[in-house]
Amino acid sequence: MDLYSGLPYWMAKNQLYNYFNPLKSNIAADVVIIGGGITGALVAHELCRAGMKCTLIDKRSITAGSSTASTALLQYEIDTPLCEMVKIIDENLAVMAYKACLQSITDIENVFKSINFDPDFEKVPSVYYASNKKGEKLIKKEYEIRKKHKLPVDFLDKKELLNKYGIKALGSLENNVSAQIDAYKAATHLIDYHMAKNDLSVFTHTEVDKYSETPKGYELLTIDGYKIKCKNVIIAAGFEAGKFLPKQVMNLTSTYAIISEPVDEKYIWHKRSLIWETQEPYLYIRTDNKNRIIVGGEDEEFRNPVKRDELLRKKVSILERKIKKLFPHIPFKTDMAWCGTFSSTKDGLPYIGNWPGKKRMFYALGYGGNGITFSMIAAQLIKNKLSGVKDEREKVFGFERGK
Ligand SMILES: Cc1cc2nc3c(=O)[nH]c(=O)nc-3n(C[C@H](O)[C@H](O)[C@H](O)COP(=O)(O)OP(=O)(O)OC[C@H]3O[C@@H](n4cnc5c(N)ncnc54)[C@H](O)[C@@H]3O)c2cc1C
Repeated sequence: MDLYSGLPYWMAKNQLYNYFNPLKSNIAADVVIIGGGITGALVAHELCRAGMKCTLIDKRSITAGSSTASTALLQYEIDTPLCEMVKIIDENLAVMAYKACLQSITDIENVFKSINFDPDFEKVPSVYYASNKKGEKLIKKEYEIRKKHKLPVDFLDKKELLNKYGIKALGSLENNVSAQIDAYKAATHLIDYHMAKNDLSVFTHTEVDKYSETPKGYELLTIDGYKIKCKNVIIAAGFEAGKFLPKQVMNLTSTYAIISEPVDEKYIWHKRSLIWETQEPYLYIRTDNKNRIIVGGEDEEFRNPVKRDELLRKKVSILERKIKKLFPHIPFKTDMAWCGTFSSTKDGLPYIGNWPGKKRMFYALGYGGNGITFSMIAAQLIKNKLSGVKDEREKVFGFERGK
């Protein structure tokens, strides 16, 4: 599967991570992580920190999947608004999901502080504006339920939104607890850090093709015919995890992003806030860590990479038109554009934990617009499970939720 195309900004901004180490013999390991994107990197970090020796396998170069294409906004707000989620799942569980995402942003920040590395993590506010009358109703309801559960949220009416952010819309929700990151820089550094400490072995360009359960764990078979025996296996294979799942749990879609040429600082809005809207699919905006503007959205409900790429030029024009409508005074000129595979679940939540009955196979599938905050939760939850510590969050992110 082609996970992205075009030129994701992070590939140009960062030095390409050169590491080539295909598996060329049969090996045995305690814990194997399949996937070296941001999820695999965070899982490796949590497990290594807990004293577990890990082996990470990726069929591509390190972090050359969706994490390279990610626009990497970090929000506690899930794609399904809380006032909608409570209609699908129990209110306490929905609130638990929102609170877990809130905590996750701080936990991501702390992971990188603990290794003394800055992956261009920046705390910024977030503005969720009403795209239309329906959106206006939604943000009012959403404000009430978030207030009820003491989640950080402020309400800006039409006038306040215009004065503070220069956005003409029917009002918005705002919070000061969001962040943004460079997911490529973050994941590659984390993997590099643990390789240097000798607690993580990494095999790239090694595709796990088949797997079978053994009395003591799993035997994985690579496409080149090598065997990996392990006690526990963690599937952090992103949107290509389908082959490891007994049942399809997500819908794969396509999404688009553009980045501007640098603009004068005077054009950057209040505190470089993240901006998104109530309409589906939503338009979203962030800055890089300097003064470029990233705009994304225009999701399509298909994942055929050829069809996805054919639409790229048209989608660039639409995204440009939308940003110009929102901020007519900003001289936005696209520098790079890309598109990628994305996925969603029925309730907007990821799948983390064991498939019922598979005690040594763990899934870290951070699907949805909060993929990266979910990756952090997955890393902690799996570490807890492997350490025999009960983690309440499995109730809402596990495969058996809603039963
Ligand atoms: C354009 C775009 C914008 C996004 N914006 C945001 C955002 O603003 N905020 C946010 O939180 N999330 C966002 N996301 C989602 C987020 O990027 C993903 O949730 C996240 O990158 C997934 O990381 P991952 O490590 O799980 O997957 P990946 O980065 O895809 O890593 C999985 C790895 O597994 C490897 N692999 C797969 N199958 C096998 C196999 N059989 N054997 C060996 N290796 C295998 C792949 O090669 C890959 O490297 C966005 C995604 C896209 C595409």
